[in-house]
Amino acid sequence: MLLARPEPPLRPLCPRPGLSGLPERAPGCPWAQRRCQSQPFSRVLGQVSILKKATIRMRQPGRVLEIVSALRRGGGDRLQVISDFDMTLSRFAYNGKRCPSSYNILDNSKIISEECRKELKALLHHYYPIEIDPHRTIEEKLPHMVKWWTKAHDCLCQQKIQKFQIAEVVRESNAMLREGYKTFFNTLDQNNIPLLIFSAGIGDILEEIIRQMKVFHPNIHIVSNYMDFDKDGFLQGFKGQLIHTYNKNSSVFENSGYFQQLKGRTNIILLGDTMGDLTMADGVPGVENILKIGFLNDKVEEQRESYMDAYDIVLEKDETLDVVNGLLKHILHQRAGWRSTAPERAGVGPVPAGLDGEGASLRGRPAVSLLFLVCAEESPGHPEAAGSSPLPPPFPVCVLQGLWEPCQVGGSKSHSK
Ligand SMILES: [Mg+2]
Repeated sequence: MLLARPEPPLRPLCPRPGLSGLPERAPGCPWAQRRCQSQPFSRVLGQVSILKKATIRMRQPGRVLEIVSALRRGGGDRLQVISDFDMTLSRFAYNGKRCPSSYNILDNSKIISEECRKELKALLHHYYPIEIDPHRTIEEKLPHMVKWWTKAHDCLCQQKIQKFQIAEVVRESNAMLREGYKTFFNTLDQNNIPLLIFSAGIGDILEEIIRQMKVFHPNIHIVSNYMDFDKDGFLQGFKGQLIHTYNKNSSVFENSGYFQQLKGRTNIILLGDTMGDLTMADGVPGVENILKIGFLNDKVEEQRESYMDAYDIVLEKDETLDVVNGLLKHILHQRAGWRSTAPERAGVGPVPAGLDGEGASLRGRPAVSLLFLVCAEESPGHPEAAGSSPLPPPFPVCVLQGLWEPCQVGGSKSHSK
């Protein structure tokens, strides 16, 4: 006897895009034919519960599930993360006030003269509206960005900035990383997942912020505008190619060999907050799956449509890394099991093979009253799901939900087929 309670009434077909590809029958599930096309979209997303967060917008949620599922199948060994820094890893605002970018930290510091500060502010007021103008193309914005960066660098180089002052100005600044940053940095490090921080900010400053937050781990590689100090320790220029908002692409990586070292890491999570961040992974050879997550911090109404077209997941005014952390947890199989919320009712019958969506801990445990059978994607790497391998991944299987709740039974090891 599998079911102790009557099946809940059928719900209307889900009209959302991206789900039409779900097969009518999930393997091994007697209810699947009726259920799989009848669940509300939010329930289908329940398999990756973090995707139900209120700040999330997705143009093609079904496509997002497919990518997340593919990333999960690849696990930590195939994954690399490429992220912008300013306003992506760092906060955009706190208590209603804007947080500084790596340039702003210098702009606002006491080591800059009042005259220079005014000049930098004037540059910001002139060029920032161009940077975020949704009505101009990237090609149109590009020369303006080069002018902005070049003028700002020239201005800073006249300030007799000394190397030792960098740590001091960072310490005295209001720089903040997004909520959840410790989990983000530590999870990537503990799982040996390379993190490339690709920034058009100032490398020395952002590196110092990460150091002072105590999350500067060996898995981090930073590509940014690094200051060039003379033999007496004074700023005399900036090293290498200028990086601005709209040239964050493979042109900066020529001859660096960074991505070549990471051959095999063909699954990518890309984090950004501007349209210019979308090309950060262009130099990665053989990309198989890429999930682009965009933080929409400013001018939300005006920019929403273009962000939703460009990014797979858009996070509106979300000052946390919750969604990224939740996805990492899912991809790394850290949420590995379900437990009964009503153990006193256990013993109705065994959970049938192939129905456990989250992990092996459910297998062999007695089933309690089953309120819902939910259709959701799952990794074919699962030992029981593997029995149905003729279906191309990703494919849905039924997971038991209702009187079961997720429990942490797994470690942080990456999953392989
Ligand atoms: Mg940014």
